[in-house]
Amino acid sequence: MNILAIETSCDETAAAIVADGRRVVAETIASQMEIHAQFGGVVPEVASRRHVESVTAVVSATFAKAGLTWSNIDAIAVTCGPGLLGALLVGVSAAKGYALATGLPLIGVHHIAGHVAASFVETDLAPPLLALVVSGGHTELLAVEPPLTFRKLGGTKDDAAGEAYDKVARLLGLPYPGGPRVDALAAEGDPTAYAFPRSLLEEDSFDFSYSGLKSAVHNELAKRRQRGEEIVAADVCASFQAAVVEVLVDKTARAVRHTGLSTVVVAGGVAANRGLRQALQRRAKEDGFHVHFPPIQLCTDNAAMIGAAAYFYAAAGRAHDLSLNAYATLPLNVWQESFTGGEI
Ligand code: ATP
Ligand code: FE
Ligand code: MG
Repeated sequence: MNILAIETSCDETAAAIVADGRRVVAETIASQMEIHAQFGGVVPEVASRRHVESVTAVVSATFAKAGLTWSNIDAIAVTCGPGLLGALLVGVSAAKGYALATGLPLIGVHHIAGHVAASFVETDLAPPLLALVVSGGHTELLAVEPPLTFRKLGGTKDDAAGEAYDKVARLLGLPYPGGPRVDALAAEGDPTAYAFPRSLLEEDSFDFSYSGLKSAVHNELAKRRQRGEEIVAADVCASFQAAVVEVLVDKTARAVRHTGLSTVVVAGGVAANRGLRQALQRRAKEDGFHVHFPPIQLCTDNAAMIGAAAYFYAAAGRAHDLSLNAYATLPLNVWQESFTGGEI
């Protein structure tokens, strides 16, 4: 089964053709990173306009690379939420247009279901498993059940992990996007230089909180600047990263014990983080669970992951009709119940 997938939830206009939810036949990503870097973050209106300019070209380029036509496609998938509403609407409108013109089934995909499904691309992994989602907008622990449904164990009370990285980068005057730069600097710094707080919340909680850590970094930098003391950015990054990673690893290990699930997939942009990769791999070895990190290009936003998630729904005969809409916020359980036809 070939699925054409479109993803426009933030600042990448992406399309992919995915075979049987596992193999990327072709993909195209038009990144707007350079445009938004001038503003220090994604400007929603600018992102929407760029998606309008790019989306049909990105789809055409993907067909050309694959050497396929619409007659080779079995379903159309598109990210319908959560994300920037104007940006999502461009992808959803394009997908609905293609579905109307071709008569193919239309599948609206939850962006986070997509991030999780990135782990199924070119692997033989399948639910049941545990997903640690660490992206620009989400920090969640999810129990993923077959074929692909989600039960949330916990999530962030305030900022997402990626957001915390980006804010700390900004406090240090590092350019956008900050996460990868903090990661690189952390490798050169001393993780014990600053004792930043580890917010574990209640003993049995799978929730996360980053506001205390962010404030601690802010206050430490302000204090040092006021006193005219030197700030070693690498030490701040290493100490901040150590605090983030320790909590993520501890809660994930705890969720493994709690659920009995022995495979963990890590999803979202922060899954690219080297400190997290090393620490979670070490803990997996110690505690005897299996951990999978997708390749870096599948961790950040892409359309292949949307096609991979859609496959489970398309294979079950589930779809959306042309009333499909885009949603800035979309709980996973609401999305799972939004389909017509089939059963999953
Ligand atoms: P969401 O998926 O929640 O809607 P998003 O799509 O903006 O948010 P992603 O594209 O998955 O998020 O990830 C981007 C985030 O990942 C940014 O916050 C970025 O700073 C962070 N990030 C990317 N690489 C790294 C890294 N190596 N270390 C830490 N953070 C990173
Ligand atoms: Fe994302
Ligand atoms: Mg992004």
